[in-house]
Amino acid sequence: MKEKKLLKKLYKYLEIVRSYQAYCENLSDDELKAKTDDFRKRLSSGETTDDIMPEAYAVICEADKRVLGMFPYDEQVLGAIALSLGYFAEMNTGEGKTLMATLPLYLNGLTGKSTILVTTNEYLAERDAEEMGPVYEFMGLSVGCAVTSNPDIKLENDDKRIIYNKDIVYTTNSNLGFDYLFNNLVKSKDDRFMRDFGYAIVDEADEVLLDSCQMPLVISGSPRVQSNLYRTCDFFITTLEEDKDYETEDKAAWFTEEGMEYAEKYFDIDNIYDKDNYELYRHIVLALRAHKSFVYGEDYVKTDDDEVVLLDKSTGRKMKGVKIGGGLHQALEEREKVKVSQETRSIASITYQNLFLMFPKLSGMSGTIVNAADEILDIYGAEVVRIPTHKGIQRVDRRDRFFPDSEKQFRAAIDLALEVHATGQPVLIVCNTIADTEIIARMLIMEGIPHSVLNANNAYWEAQIVKEAGQLGTVTVATSMAGRGTDIKLGPGVKELGGLAVIGIGRMDSIRAERQARGRSGRQGDPGFSQFFLSLEDDVVSAEGSKTLEKVIDGKKKMPEWKLKKIINKSQKVNEENGTASRKSAFEFDIVMQLQRKLIYEIRNDLLDGGTIELDRIREISKSNIKKFVNEAVDISKGDLSRYILDNISYTFDDKLESLNLDDKDDICDYLMYCVRTSIEEQKERTQTPNHFENFVRVATLTAIDDAWVEEVDYLQQLKGAVSGRASAQRNVAQEYQREALESFQKMEEKIKHDMIRNILLSELSVDKEDNLHIVFP
Ligand code: ADP
Repeated sequence: MKEKKLLKKLYKYLEIVRSYQAYCENLSDDELKAKTDDFRKRLSSGETTDDIMPEAYAVICEADKRVLGMFPYDEQVLGAIALSLGYFAEMNTGEGKTLMATLPLYLNGLTGKSTILVTTNEYLAERDAEEMGPVYEFMGLSVGCAVTSNPDIKLENDDKRIIYNKDIVYTTNSNLGFDYLFNNLVKSKDDRFMRDFGYAIVDEADEVLLDSCQMPLVISGSPRVQSNLYRTCDFFITTLEEDKDYETEDKAAWFTEEGMEYAEKYFDIDNIYDKDNYELYRHIVLALRAHKSFVYGEDYVKTDDDEVVLLDKSTGRKMKGVKIGGGLHQALEEREKVKVSQETRSIASITYQNLFLMFPKLSGMSGTIVNAADEILDIYGAEVVRIPTHKGIQRVDRRDRFFPDSEKQFRAAIDLALEVHATGQPVLIVCNTIADTEIIARMLIMEGIPHSVLNANNAYWEAQIVKEAGQLGTVTVATSMAGRGTDIKLGPGVKELGGLAVIGIGRMDSIRAERQARGRSGRQGDPGFSQFFLSLEDDVVSAEGSKTLEKVIDGKKKMPEWKLKKIINKSQKVNEENGTASRKSAFEFDIVMQLQRKLIYEIRNDLLDGGTIELDRIREISKSNIKKFVNEAVDISKGDLSRYILDNISYTFDDKLESLNLDDKDDICDYLMYCVRTSIEEQKERTQTPNHFENFVRVATLTAIDDAWVEEVDYLQQLKGAVSGRASAQRNVAQEYQREALESFQKMEEKIKHDMIRNILLSELSVDKEDNLHIVFP
C-alpha cells in the first residue's frame, strides 16, 4: 500500500480512538479497570484485536494519563495503531516510543497470548518494564522483565516460567533467542518455561532484524576432539598467491580451482572434495578466512593475556567471551600464534531472522527503518510507515563537506567543534569506528577541551553519558551506535544557543547509521544542526589499489569536490547493496536449518506433551532398520548376525539362530523381527506397567532425537563455514549447501530410527520400591 494511503487509514482509526476519549475521561478508576474484563470477554466471543483496538486504545490512553502522567499524543497513537496492525513504524528518537508501546502491548496482552517487547539492551528493557509497568498493573495485566543487568542474578527456569507467563514481557533480542533455544533443549515437560510466541514489537527494528542477523546465536556444548590441522593449514595459507590460488572481494575470500589443485599437491591427496578429506578441506577454508576476512584492530585484537577477542564493529567494544563458531575462532588464534582454545560443538543455533519470523504477529519501530523498507518487506512481509513527528523537525542538516584525506577532514571537523563549543552549544561528534573516536579525543585534548568519550563497556553508563550530551558546554565523542535508543534532552539555555550540534566524521556503512547520528539532535521540535565531514580515507571507500585515489590522498593530485563527493557517496551505496545481498544470502542459508529445526522441535514438543509411540510403529521402524541391514550386507555370517543382535536388539540369544538358513534374506529378517518382539516383551515386563513403558519409549526416542540433532546442528554450522570458502563464479554456494544439508538430514533420520530402537531394546531398566523407573541407556 502506498504510504499516503496507509497513513490515511491510520488517521481514520485515530479519529475513532479519540471519539471514545471523553467517555473514558468520565469513567471512575474502577470503571476504567473493569474495561479489561470487558475486552477479554469480547475477544473470547469472536471479536479481534483490530475490532476492539479503538476503544482499547482510548482506555489505555486514559490510564497512561492517570497512572504515568503522560497522555499519548496523536502521533503516538498513530504509531500504536500501525504496530498493532502489523506494520513497522518509523518514529524518531525522542518521539516517545516507550509510551507508545503501552497501547499495542496492552491490547495484544488481552488476548492471553505471549506478548513481548524486544529492546537491544538489558538496561532499556529493565527501565521500560519498570517505568511502564504500573499502567499495565493498574489495568489488571501482569508484566515482567526476562533480563537483568545485575550479573549476580541468574534467572533459573522456574523464575523464567513465571516471567514468560506474564501478560506482557520486556526482554532483549539476544536473551529471547537464547531462551528459545534453551527452552527447546529441556528433557522434560516440566522444565519448559516459554509459551508459544504470540506478538512481538521489536525496538530499533532495523538494527535487530537486519544488522545483527548474520551472527547466529549459538549454544555450545561438549568439546570437540582437538585437531592439529590448524597449524598445518595456517602455514599452508602463507604459501598461497593471491588471484592465482585464491581470490578476495571485500571481506570474502575463496579458493580458485587452481588453488584447490595446489592444495591437493601440497597435502598429497587425490581429491580435496572427497568426504575423507573433509576435515582438511574445512581447516584450509577456515585458515584462509582467518587470514583474509579478518582485519586486526578492526575485527579483533590480541589482548595482553594472549587471547583473541572480537570487536563489536559498531561500538568498537571488545566482545569478551564471544567466539565465532565453526572453528573460525581457533583459526584466528592460530594466525595470531596464541594458544588455540578448545573448540566446542554447537548444540543449538538460530538467527534473529528466523527467531522473529516465528511470531505470528510481528511489528517493529525505529528512527531509521524507512531506508530498509524494501528489505523488511522482502524478508518479513511487512510494510513500513513513517509516522509524522509530534512537532516539526527544526534541525538543519548542513551540506556535507568533502576532503581528499583524513588529516584535512579531521582538522576541519575539530575546527567546527571548537567554533561551536566556544558559544556554549553542546557538541556531539559521531565517528564510524572506535579508533576514530580515539583520534578525535586526542585532538580535543591538544586543544584543551574537556570531553567524554563513549567507550564504556556498559550500556547503562553509555546511556548516562549520552543523556548528558545535551547540557551546556559539553563535548561528547561517540560511535553512531553507542547508547542507541537513549534520548538526548537539552539542558537549560541550550535551546536559545541553537540546540545540539552533531558533527559526523566519515561516511558510514549505511544511510541509516547516518540518520541515526543526525537524529540525536532536533528531538521533539528542538533546534539543532548536523554536518558530516568526509574523505577518501573513509572506511567505506576502498582507495587501496587505485593509483589515482592514492595520489589524491597523498596530495600529489587534485580532485574537485564534486568528484570526491561522487566517489564517496557511491562507495556507501555499494556498501549498502553488499550488506543487503549478504543478509539475503545468510537468510537463504538459514532456511534449511529453520525447516529442520521446526520439524525436530515439533516432534520433540509432541513427545514432551505426552505424545506416544505405538508398539506397531516401533515394530515398523525396527523392520525397516533390519531390512536395511540385511539388504546392504553381503554374505551374512552367524557372527555378523549375533553381532547385530547384540548391538541392536538383545543381550540374550536363543538356539534358533543355529538352525537359520543364512542364504534366505527373508528368513533372516523374520528371525530378527522375532528377536525384536521378544525383546520388546521383556522390556515391557521390566517396566512393570504400561504407563512406565510408554514413558520409557518416549524418553528413549527423545534421547535418540536429541543426540542426532545436536550432531546435525554442529555439522550444518561447520558446513556453512566450509562451503562459503567455495564461492566462485561457477558455484551456487547456497544451493550446494542446501543439497548437502538435505543429505545430512536424511542420514540423521536414519540415525534417529536406529538409535531409538537401540535405546528401546537395549536399555537397562528397573523399577524401585517407590515405583520410580530407572533407565540406563546403552
Ligand atoms: P524514544 O524511545 O522514541 O526515543 P522515549 O520513549 O525515550 O523516546 O521518550 C522521550 C521522552 O518523551 C521521555 O522523557 C518521555 O517521558 C517523554 N514523553 C513521551 N511521550 C510523552 C507524552 N505523551 N507526554 C509527555 N511526555 C512524553
